[in-house]
Amino acid sequence: MRNARIWASMLGVSGTVVEQVELNEETATLVASVRPRRGHTDLCGVCKLRCPRFDRGAGRRRWRSLDFGLFKVFLEADAPRVRCAEHGVVVASVPWARHDAGHTFAFDDTVAWLAVKTSKTAVTSLMGVAWRTVGSIVARVSTDATKGIDRFADLRRIGIDEISYKRGKRFLTVVVDHDSRRLLWAGVGRDMSTVHAFFDALGEERCAQITHVSSDSATWIERVVRRRCPNAVRCADPFHVVQWAQQAMDQVRRDSQQAARRRAQRAPGKPALGKELNLWRTRHALWKSPENLTEHQAERLKWIEKVDPRLHRAYLLKEGLRFVFQVGPDEGKEALDRWLSWARRSRMPSFVKVARQIDAHREAIEATLEHRLSNALIESTNAKIRVLTRVAFGFKNPDALIGLAMLALGGFCPSLPRAG
Ligand SMILES: [Zn+2]
Repeated sequence: MRNARIWASMLGVSGTVVEQVELNEETATLVASVRPRRGHTDLCGVCKLRCPRFDRGAGRRRWRSLDFGLFKVFLEADAPRVRCAEHGVVVASVPWARHDAGHTFAFDDTVAWLAVKTSKTAVTSLMGVAWRTVGSIVARVSTDATKGIDRFADLRRIGIDEISYKRGKRFLTVVVDHDSRRLLWAGVGRDMSTVHAFFDALGEERCAQITHVSSDSATWIERVVRRRCPNAVRCADPFHVVQWAQQAMDQVRRDSQQAARRRAQRAPGKPALGKELNLWRTRHALWKSPENLTEHQAERLKWIEKVDPRLHRAYLLKEGLRFVFQVGPDEGKEALDRWLSWARRSRMPSFVKVARQIDAHREAIEATLEHRLSNALIESTNAKIRVLTRVAFGFKNPDALIGLAMLALGGFCPSLPRAG
């Protein structure tokens, strides 16, 4: 065919012979008949080794590629099968697409890039694919991108945490690298065998090189870490420790609300309900850090200080614990001591409980202060993965969610395909 090479480069394919191009104006499609160039034929789809031809397979097949203007583009080719010594009878590899994919490399990479950078609606409408399809594309692009790359070289300080998805019904265990600030690994489940799976992937030698492991105080993580990383200092995730105080404060707020409601029931007609309602409305102001408060929220806090001093003290306790992790190690330890005696004397059972929890994990918390493990990293990775889990909600299988997380937070987002 004339201009076959120009067509090949416009379609963004290599190792490929373009035999014929057909335009159908009615269906607004362009179909390019192609075949693998010599040297690219009869390779196992899985391992890419040359194998004997088995049969013609299911005949002609189509792969969607990037649109040309307003036209949808498909590559069409034979899809013969080969017999691989290791993988049995499989469809032969093609140079324009990943194994078992219905889309070309260029199409896959564009969809993956859009899934990382834009919204669900943007990807599906722009590319004309279902969200489920985006999920399988993301999963295979991610598998491909992480294959053959040594993600675990020179690993020293890691954090292990759990993330819930499917409205809190399912869990992923995630591992972040404190030094590169990237997501390293994610696996389905929150149990000892999931943590073991990560350390298995890491290998014994590298486990021994790990110097610090941060996690919440979950025993299923701690036990495995103690066994697999004998040389690592265990640190507490400041994120979770501060969360304990947040939950304790929430308990105080709920108690206050209930007390206000009871007072209102006892003396109907009194405007006590107003306080109950307002307390509910202050919850965002209480949760936020003071530096992030809006003017309106700051006013609500002042109001709490006046009408509910106990709840205000709970707020100060929560902020006090956050402060412990914001200053240097020595100052932090002193602040922690002060905080503990303050919490124990607070006469708020939920905070007395937090003080006991901290006592129990004192060693790991002090290790965090000494080794200055960044809370900001864990918190922001956590927040980003939470956003992803909401985005990835429609994905049928967790591989797509893990794939999207690795592309977005592991540094594996493909670049947009460009000719030349
Ligand atoms: Zn093979």
